Amino acid sequence: MSQLVSHAHVPTMVLMILIISGAMAVAVIYVAWGHSSRDSLRWWGWSMTLNTMAFVAFANVSPAASAWPLVMGNGLMVGAMGLAQRAVTVFVGRPWRVSWLAAPLVVAVLASYLWHDQPALRLPVVDVAVLLQALWLVWLALPPKALRTHWPARIPRGRRLLILGTTLIGALYLQRLTFALMQHFSALDLTTPGLSQTFSYMLGLVGLVLSTLGFILMHKERAEDQLQRMAMQDALTGTANRRGVLAMLERAVAQAIRQRTPLSVLMVDIDHFKHVNDTHGHPVGDEVLRQVAQRLQARLRGQDVLGRYGGEEFLVVLPQTDVAGALKLAEILRRRVAESPLHVDGLRIPVTVSLGLHSGVPAPGKGSGAEMVEAADRALYRAKQNGRNQTQCEPSHTAEATVIRS
Ligand code: GH3
Ligand code: MG
Ligand code: MG
Repeated sequence: MSQLVSHAHVPTMVLMILIISGAMAVAVIYVAWGHSSRDSLRWWGWSMTLNTMAFVAFANVSPAASAWPLVMGNGLMVGAMGLAQRAVTVFVGRPWRVSWLAAPLVVAVLASYLWHDQPALRLPVVDVAVLLQALWLVWLALPPKALRTHWPARIPRGRRLLILGTTLIGALYLQRLTFALMQHFSALDLTTPGLSQTFSYMLGLVGLVLSTLGFILMHKERAEDQLQRMAMQDALTGTANRRGVLAMLERAVAQAIRQRTPLSVLMVDIDHFKHVNDTHGHPVGDEVLRQVAQRLQARLRGQDVLGRYGGEEFLVVLPQTDVAGALKLAEILRRRVAESPLHVDGLRIPVTVSLGLHSGVPAPGKGSGAEMVEAADRALYRAKQNGRNQTQCEPSHTAEATVIRS
């Protein structure tokens, strides 16, 4: 194994990096082509393309050659890093500045041109430029405030891979910089086989593969998050949908059991909504639904969850709220809807809601979320029976004076 590492054939390693980098460039650009939502992937693909071209140029470096292969190779390498930064900023929605690319590019190209035969001057300058670029890329890939609050648990795995891969590339340039400063140029000559050469190529290759894989995974993770959010959200009102609000309810029940705190659920149903649809049409009915949801949401606390349970029925989950508090809130919500007509398409549409409330302190094996919803539904049924635009509790003796009417 050690023989293999210290005598690894340099042209073969260069060829392998070139092929892998080129294949990844083609694959990434192919996947991103024609999808505006995948602009960031396309930038990454161009970055890989420049990286591949850099290795083509490096393959032509020889003592006898002119400065141009070095100038091209280093320029393309710095350009590839710059485009990788661009790709990440597009993904995370941060601004990008052309100077992040232009400044290291000018430095690397000038150093390569002026000092192509003076490695003691050229190498430290070029290596510092790329090292700083790699560090900047890691910084851009970190979620905001990651270092202070979320490290490392909340960093999604795709980003972790990207950060790890880029750190390896940074480590490669740090290694090169160290040798350059020690004037250990034989270890930096990438054309003669040796331990440090093999190590450099491996760091570069693994860094390239991990960062590209990480960047692609970041897109997959984001798409999954979006899908999950959409699966839990009601398209019309923007509130949680039935699945979403029931999931929240189950979580709230578990928390209430753990903490032995009261939990309340409110079922809210628009009164005579069919009449609104029949009189003004379905689109107006939709807008009424949206505005009622807004009015309800505006009065809830941060921990409360509003969701559209069915057609014109909303479920409100009120953690750490006893019957007295929930009744008070139910009345605030009821009045907020009834106090002034809604304005839709120049029409003034008076709307009222009926509310059914169930409160309790759930215990293990008793009082599931579904049972709480059923109880709130029974209370709602009574509110409808008793004339609508009112709140009822279930069981009714939980609050003797709970039948509140306007
Ligand atoms: P009640 O006071 O007893 O609740 O009477 P209601 O008319 O509100 O109740 P009903 O259950 O008879 O009718 C509910 C109506 O809600 C019927 C249905 O067409 C309407 N609806 C359900 N979902 C939507 C929706 O997404 N948009 C619109 N515009 N109407 C909807
Ligand atoms: Mg109704
Ligand atoms: Mg209904």
